[in-house]
Amino acid sequence: MGVRASEIEQGRLHAPTRSTAQRSAWRSPAWRQVRVLVVTVLAVAVPAVASASNFGSGGGIFLAEDSTPGIARLSLTNGFVNAVTYVATSVYDPTDLNSSVQANQTNCADALGHDVCAFDDAYGVTGWLGIMDCVGTPFGADPTVRCTRNRVRFNLSYVATVNSPHSVACHEMGHAVGLRHTALTSSCLSNVGAFPPVWNAHDVAHVNANY
Ligand SMILES: [Zn+2]
Repeated sequence: MGVRASEIEQGRLHAPTRSTAQRSAWRSPAWRQVRVLVVTVLAVAVPAVASASNFGSGGGIFLAEDSTPGIARLSLTNGFVNAVTYVATSVYDPTDLNSSVQANQTNCADALGHDVCAFDDAYGVTGWLGIMDCVGTPFGADPTVRCTRNRVRFNLSYVATVNSPHSVACHEMGHAVGLRHTALTSSCLSNVGAFPPVWNAHDVAHVNANY
């Protein structure tokens, strides 16, 4: 089974090559009009979906393996070192999650206790600023499929002008524990423009109900 990605930025949906993964996106302003159109179409096509839930596996989202995620920092530049550590201590740990950060890791592996592996690099004009996927073993059934090892990557080829590394890390690391997109700009899981580097009370309630 191939890698399944849950996050795209800046128009990845329109890239000519992509995996079979279902992808969900927030995009740069240039794509906003397209995104709004897509959201509108979905809203019309799936009127029965009344739930406001933005939590659960499916579409490339996987819950973390357990409530004590080991977060491996691999080859991160300073901005994202700080951002990943911030999310661990100030976003994850105030909830029922109890994370640990493993600095200066060179491999991403279950055997090393890694549950969330964070990388940054100049990945090129990929269409995404940040992306999350399961690179370990999925287990369980939707909507609570967990992955033994979720990977988050931050693309230094793009300059994030709208959101800080803290906000982008909050967003991707939110996906890595099962949070999905929301239109609410009170959460870093927002897929609408700028968002703060925090989860809102709704996100926290979902996380606490599942860990
Ligand atoms: Zn996302």
